[in-house]
Amino acid sequence: MLEDREGKLLLDFGFPYKRHKEFYEEYLKPRPGAGLLDPLAMGLLPPLEGIYRDDLMPPGLWRQFRTAPHYRKLDHIDGVLLSHAHLDHSGHIAFLSTDIPVFSTATTAFIAKAMQDSGRPDFDQEACYFTQKELDRPPDWKQEACLSSNRAKQQRQFRIADVSPESLSAQANDFWTRGFWEKTAKQKALASEYLDSHLNSSFPLRCFPVDHSIPGACAWGMETGSGWIIYSGDVRKHGKRGMYTERFIEAAAGLRPKALIIEGTNITRKQNVREQDVYDNGLKAISSATGLVIADFSPRDVDRLLTFLSIARETGRKLAILPKDAYLLKTMRLLEPETPDISCEPSIVIYQKTIAAKSPDHWMRSICKDYDSKIVVASDIHRAQDEFIVCFSFWDLNELPSIQPKPGSLYVFSSSEPHDEEQEIDFRRLHAWLEYFQFKKFGLPVEVGDTWEIPEAERGLHASGHASGPDLLDIARKINPEILIPVHSQYPEHYVDNLAGTRIKVSLPEPRGALYI
Ligand SMILES: [Zn+2]
Repeated sequence: MLEDREGKLLLDFGFPYKRHKEFYEEYLKPRPGAGLLDPLAMGLLPPLEGIYRDDLMPPGLWRQFRTAPHYRKLDHIDGVLLSHAHLDHSGHIAFLSTDIPVFSTATTAFIAKAMQDSGRPDFDQEACYFTQKELDRPPDWKQEACLSSNRAKQQRQFRIADVSPESLSAQANDFWTRGFWEKTAKQKALASEYLDSHLNSSFPLRCFPVDHSIPGACAWGMETGSGWIIYSGDVRKHGKRGMYTERFIEAAAGLRPKALIIEGTNITRKQNVREQDVYDNGLKAISSATGLVIADFSPRDVDRLLTFLSIARETGRKLAILPKDAYLLKTMRLLEPETPDISCEPSIVIYQKTIAAKSPDHWMRSICKDYDSKIVVASDIHRAQDEFIVCFSFWDLNELPSIQPKPGSLYVFSSSEPHDEEQEIDFRRLHAWLEYFQFKKFGLPVEVGDTWEIPEAERGLHASGHASGPDLLDIARKINPEILIPVHSQYPEHYVDNLAGTRIKVSLPEPRGALYI
């Protein structure tokens, strides 16, 4: 949280994957019926009374936390500055009071909604809208309390920083409010924000588009009583939108900022694979394939999807994407008309899973209606295996018994290696699936002693969403703040070591501690 005498802003409010995994897994989750109790008690949310939704608050909840370290009672927050739609930055917006607006780019707002429409309905990741909950019984935690959700849907207020909502098409506005047409639903139109005024925030704000592995990412500038503070969000220079990051660096440096809050995910990495390398290496691997090809990458990384679309065109294959990827592309096109139009793109088809939901949601119905002629099923893939690149991840492999891939099919892995024990277990399962169906693997990390490594000859199939160490230090030196505050990093001291001798003072924040500048 950024705070001065004038006001308070939250800089993202994400789902804390690492801490969540320390306590929870698929079958052990925070209890929706306990509302805010579980995430507060387990340290997944900060104990800030006054910023959360009333409907998730059992009576007497705050008595338990008033003596907790870092407890505070706040009467007003100006908003959340959302840098991009990855859930580790946006997920816990779900818990915030609806009178706290979310500032973002239009693309981030739309992707967040598309992800929520087509994703799992977890109560702790509903960033754009939610159903108001109501405690059925007094919260005696010896019994199982139950939150019913028979109330209307509520849409959160988003203030768009980069385009005027009035300039959006009717379809775009319809997309934003779709699902909220019931009489009782509280619908919120997109609002525009004049970022250099005090209209809706106590701070003058600046929004800078940057390059990251999801479209719509931005950095933020906030003018405080101590000077400009810049927050990088997640950032890289080596992707397709690298020029955005260059423009951000120049504009941020021009503000002569007091402080730069910068991510450091890959601060110890010396260099990064570029998206162009992914295309070259992917093309090389897939050109020589004679049977079915499966490409495994993060579907929200639209740039990667377009890279594999280019490879599909080049190799005369069709890219089979999942309905939720089609929905994301369709959503992106509402704002970025250069995004391929699935209905007239001969190299894209949509893979409909073998056992579909009995009553599809409105987003799935819209995909089936709009792209009826583009739908393929397992038997279509089975009959013409050498004509497709199927975009699956580990979680879609249970489709293979229906597709019946021929021995020697190719699995191209274009994502990141495992980062924790749970992911390592999934990777062993992934290898087991591929060996069972006799796939050739390309770019897939293999277990070498205690670590996982991609074989030397198969590297260069994943361009990270985060800048390398030299790029991050270059961003820091060029923006040249008085104070640099690393976040989102396991090795923040790397900034201290490498910026010694410059005017930049690196301040390492304590977890949940305060820094006064
Ligand atoms: Zn991210």
